[in-house]
Amino acid sequence: MDFRLTPEQEQFRDSVRRFAAKHLAPGARERAHSPDYPWDVAKRMAGQGLLGITIAQADGGQGGSLIDAVIAIEEVAAACPRSADVVQAGNFGPIRVLAEYGSASHKKEFLHRLLKGEGVISVGMTEPDAGSAVTDLTTSATRDGDGWRINGSKVFTTHSAYADVILAYVRFGPGVGGIGSVLIETKAQGVSRGKASAFMSGEEWAELRFENVLVPADRVLLGEGGFKKQIAGFNVERIGNTARSLALGRYAYERARQWAMQRKQFGRLLCEFQGLQWKFAEMKMKLDAGQLLLYRAAANADRGFPSAEETAIAKAFCNQAGFEVASEALQVMGGLGYSQEELVEYCLRRCRGWMIAGGSIEILKNRIAEAVFERSFSQRGSRD
Ligand SMILES: Cc1cc2nc3c(=O)[nH]c(=O)nc-3n(C[C@H](O)[C@H](O)[C@H](O)COP(=O)(O)OP(=O)(O)OC[C@H]3O[C@@H](n4cnc5c(N)ncnc54)[C@H](O)[C@@H]3O)c2cc1C
Repeated sequence: MDFRLTPEQEQFRDSVRRFAAKHLAPGARERAHSPDYPWDVAKRMAGQGLLGITIAQADGGQGGSLIDAVIAIEEVAAACPRSADVVQAGNFGPIRVLAEYGSASHKKEFLHRLLKGEGVISVGMTEPDAGSAVTDLTTSATRDGDGWRINGSKVFTTHSAYADVILAYVRFGPGVGGIGSVLIETKAQGVSRGKASAFMSGEEWAELRFENVLVPADRVLLGEGGFKKQIAGFNVERIGNTARSLALGRYAYERARQWAMQRKQFGRLLCEFQGLQWKFAEMKMKLDAGQLLLYRAAANADRGFPSAEETAIAKAFCNQAGFEVASEALQVMGGLGYSQEELVEYCLRRCRGWMIAGGSIEILKNRIAEAVFERSFSQRGSRD
């Protein structure tokens, strides 16, 4: 067993590090406080080969492994936490599901543009009455001639304010087996956005409403029975979410570490107080443990989808660790940490969201418990 990166991975890491230091570190603070998507970063990353890292070269990607994409998130986030979202959008999110299951025409119409950093795709799973219980979704796809008529709505969708296409989970028929997905352009007739809102992170979102949206047959990504495949692909999204939790926790830790070596109180450096040293020891233990779980899930996936169990363990642990580390780092930095002069408070706010997004910590623990007891546990009450 070898816990080190390969020479090729080290080379890739160093090149992303140089790129991030030169192009992303300047302006990191402004980007974090802007609700806009950093399109300039997306285009630059496309030029650098950082979008589509795990997507096949034949489809316009780099043909790399999941661990390469994780390394990219780590290095980008260390220079500019907000830009890590661009790595996510271009590698881990619905783009990967599109690349895996999309037809040649889907790739031509959507994927190539996304890989150039000229557009972004959202995944619309969550609905007002279907959050953790995602299979309760009611957005319907009913036959209309050769195509489908979509009715329903999605909430909390990341990038909903500006995405040009939504990979929407829809119901073709009853039960879990009736769920599949379609690609809906946000400019299509019948698509509208509700009241603009924002997460605690500052990212904007708005309810996406579909009223008699006509979707041609060739815009179905996965038809009836597609749910399991969609969720298998969604584990990649979870790895990106996991990697960002840990990377932003690490960013906060690094700022606090630097601060503790220069800030003096009572005539001593902060790092000389044992009460703070133990905080740093705890932070480091959490970051290192999280990294091993993250790398296990990503490395075992190689170029495929990661295992649901290893992903759940990594995500639940790293979501918690990232948030706790960011919180302790903020505490160590006192008023400065709580201020927008530093990005530590931003990292804390972002990490808080990932404890809910992409499968909350509780839902992931339910999945882990199934692995522990080697059986499934219905979460539904007897009245269901
Ligand atoms: C920052 C952010 C980004 C998001 N981006 C997207 C996106 O791009 N696309 C998308 O479709 N959705 C997105 N979401 C929505 C997210 O997937 C849901 O918020 C999440 O699935 C939880 O659903 P809910 O908010 O309805 O909470 P609920 O399902 O109502 O849950 C409320 C609480 O109860 C707990 N709970 C529920 N059921 C159980 C159970 N069986 N056992 C134990 N605890 C339980 C939950 O863990 C949670 O703490 C995003 C959310 C956030 C915060």
